[in-house]
Amino acid sequence: MKKVILFLIDSMMPDVLERCIAAKKAPGLQFLMERSQYIPDCVTVFPTMTASIDCSLITGVYPDVHKIPGLVWYDTETRQMINYINGAIPVQKMGIAHCASNVLFDLNERHLSRSVKTIHEVVEENHLVSGSINVIAHRGHKKHKVHMPPMLDALTSFQLREKVSGPTIMSMGTLVRPDLFRSVAWDMSQSVLKGYGINDAFAIDQLIEVIRSGKQPHFTLVYLPENDHKLHKSPQDAIQHLAEVDKELVRFLDSFSSWEQMLERNVCILISDHGQTVIGEGEEHNIPLERLLSGFSIHAIGKVVAPEVDVVICNNERMAYLYAKDPDTLKGIVEALVVDDRIDVIAWRENEKIIVRKGGTTEVLRFWRDGTYPDAYGVKWGIEGDVSVLDVQFDGEQLLFDTYPDAFSRLYGSLFSQSGHVIAITAAKGYEMLSEYFPTHLGGGSHGSLHKQDSLIPLLIAGAKHKIGLPARLVDVKDFILCELGIATAPGQQ
Ligand SMILES: [Zn+2]
Repeated sequence: MKKVILFLIDSMMPDVLERCIAAKKAPGLQFLMERSQYIPDCVTVFPTMTASIDCSLITGVYPDVHKIPGLVWYDTETRQMINYINGAIPVQKMGIAHCASNVLFDLNERHLSRSVKTIHEVVEENHLVSGSINVIAHRGHKKHKVHMPPMLDALTSFQLREKVSGPTIMSMGTLVRPDLFRSVAWDMSQSVLKGYGINDAFAIDQLIEVIRSGKQPHFTLVYLPENDHKLHKSPQDAIQHLAEVDKELVRFLDSFSSWEQMLERNVCILISDHGQTVIGEGEEHNIPLERLLSGFSIHAIGKVVAPEVDVVICNNERMAYLYAKDPDTLKGIVEALVVDDRIDVIAWRENEKIIVRKGGTTEVLRFWRDGTYPDAYGVKWGIEGDVSVLDVQFDGEQLLFDTYPDAFSRLYGSLFSQSGHVIAITAAKGYEMLSEYFPTHLGGGSHGSLHKQDSLIPLLIAGAKHKIGLPARLVDVKDFILCELGIATAPGQQ
């Protein structure tokens, strides 16, 4: 049986991938593309932020089932803001111990729902070996010790001495390393400057080493983060950034006696987590949430959330979650925001329904599960109001999405992933949310929204027995891999 390797390339976009190959700057990607089922319009998860997407990739479900709403969110039960590390200043204000604990421990051990199984859990329950290299979502059946660097160790006051769970072969940079990887030589890529080894070169080093050792897991998920960091700063150099990822992939391909030999032994899948949108250069491209909500009392980051506070803002770049004190406050917040046409989608729950408005307009759309209109993925929806709010078209009875791919399931997934009076808002094209301390990217790239620019990702499947069903979504990849490994049955073969 072939092994399966899944590369998760942060912020890889279909048009950039195609242009990079056409410009002859990506021989590794070109080799794989020419031998792949290539899907340029695979739909990812909303919010288009790595934490919720990674959890969907390893569980095969949207956030309403796995319960990780975003990179930054508010837990209404513990009254705590959760931050899986976004922004140096918010992390400092909220406490590095709290945020490090959120991302290294709480995400996998507390927040990620036990009602779903990760791909690592399923693979290892079926007596195969699973592996995860540098992915923040990694829950599995084995326990791994965290090796905190001295500076972080002192700051976190031993809170992270608990073991974290993962598959048999697991690494998180230099923080969690199986003995197998001890022979990977220390270099700059593992230093503080490179995120404690959470970088492309170190991930590829570890992958090559695990294969060389003869202990390659049946399934390995490898995370390559650097394309995202570079695109945030200089989206105009997108092709060059992806070409640098390709150099690392070529290093992996060259570790075999031929590139063809790699594909004879492995199914090689490449996917992205989300796209990016270029943000305008002028200050007006920052949507000042505190100013728009100046009539409300807003929770100050780093303080305990007081019961009298009207709203907690959780900024996820091109989207934000707003947690209102009560239903009346929620309505007031919607009215204060809907006048601004820089805000694109405004959505919230009302019992079992989701209500959607659009900034600068008066139209309202309501939708709910178990109605009569099917979408392309076989989910049936009830609808009331103006479907133009989400640019929904009809093909007979069937719903078609364009501007906002898989809009109903993805909004439903985000709003039903959490409790409280929560509103999800997204920024119009070229804009980003501005709120206390959170980083913005004027003139750079950003993501988080429901729009297709942030939401359509390339998917390449090379060397596989099966083809993935179309239209493809990121949440379908888990079952596809289980099928390649002989654990699940291919659709239509039951
Ligand atoms: Zn990013």
